[in-house]
Amino acid sequence: MSFPSVYPPKQLQVTKKLLVTIDGPAGAGKTTVSRALADRLGYRYIDTGALYRGVAYHAKKRGVPPGDDVALARMLEDLRLGFQRTEKGLRLTADGEDITDRIRTPEMSMLASSVSAQPAVRAFLLQVQRELGREKAAVFEGRDMGTVVFPAADVKFFLSASEETRAKRRFAELQGQSPASLEEVERDMRRRDEQDSTRAIAPLQPAADAIRIDSSAISIDRVVELMLGHITAALERP
Ligand code: C5P
Repeated sequence: MSFPSVYPPKQLQVTKKLLVTIDGPAGAGKTTVSRALADRLGYRYIDTGALYRGVAYHAKKRGVPPGDDVALARMLEDLRLGFQRTEKGLRLTADGEDITDRIRTPEMSMLASSVSAQPAVRAFLLQVQRELGREKAAVFEGRDMGTVVFPAADVKFFLSASEETRAKRRFAELQGQSPASLEEVERDMRRRDEQDSTRAIAPLQPAADAIRIDSSAISIDRVVELMLGHITAALERP
């Protein structure tokens, strides 16, 4: 007996260029969902967390303290940060150096969260992100996409899940990359969420007009289908 194959998912014939945003805390499934949506729509996928991680990596390399806004501002004056499409996929480069494989450590997660609270860093990346979104036809994943960076986005989602679910997902993602235990992953995630949600500028919060989805009890495939339903409705609007 054969089952109908759902993979690879069919790319839709989309000509309208929408800007889709997905915000939410760590481990809610944003990356998997954003990539899947971008593939289905034939849109670009932009991981804005990678940009904050890139700044954090560069600050560490240059010995700039993550809480020193003035020194960070000086460092950012000549930092060229961006994405490059290569045969290895989408890569993050800082001043020409491919840093994609260096930014996914637990240390960089916490450092990214620390530098992301600094006004100079947010102002710098606001420009970078708006430039990347100028032509629309993109799915942007982050923390403040729908609230600050693209308040006029066409479709906004806020994806969350219970703390337990998110910690387990994060732990599974880190397998082979980090020796951290589930308890350590959960503790770090809670600290990072707290830091991201309570900072003065652009804290993690749903936009008033965001569609909220809780992925604790449903599969990631189901989340993608739910979101595609909302996006299709937006595509059909005159
Ligand atoms: O999404 P990711 O875990 O890679 O993000 C790393 C950190 O970057 C987050 O914890 C958050 O502090 C920061 N960030 C942000 N705004 C965004 C994306 C990420 O402040 N739009």
